Amino acid sequence: KNMTFTIIKPTAIKNNNAGAILKMINDAGFVIKAMKFTRISKTQAGAFYAVHKGKPFYKELIRFMSSGPIIAAILEKENAIEDFRELIGATNPDKAKEGTVRKIFACSVTENAVHGSDSVENVRIEADFFFNQLEIY
Ligand code: ATP
Repeated sequence: KNMTFTIIKPTAIKNNNAGAILKMINDAGFVIKAMKFTRISKTQAGAFYAVHKGKPFYKELIRFMSSGPIIAAILEKENAIEDFRELIGATNPDKAKEGTVRKIFACSVTENAVHGSDSVENVRIEADFFFNQLEIY
């Protein structure tokens, strides 16, 4: 089994959808290995999304991701990274399949309810950004 990393983004928390999203995650077979209800500054959001620096949506993404509380979590499952991206659906909710988390809960491309890591290396980098060794079970 392997791990992926997710963030439930500010609008999903504000709209009180965290419970429903976590239920979808559990129902799809993911086990929560670490979880944190927290909030990040603009500087921290900028560091987390550094790969997108310079892109047209970067500033809006940073503003949004620091606009309110989030839930960061590490999830375990066989084929975790791919299966999680399948569960959440396309980045743009208009293109996401029926029944995916983003289709159901996203408000826009930026406010698309959840993040899901795209590679083993990024799972590690992103998980380390939010959790220390003692917080992972
Ligand atoms: P994530 O990394 O959050 O799982 P992703 O891999 O589907 O999403 P990326 O291309 O890594 O998408 O973009 C990171 C985030 O930046 C997206 O989840 C979305 O919130 C925002 N974003 C990406 N593309 C756009 C865009 N064209 N317009 C507005 N926001 C965007």
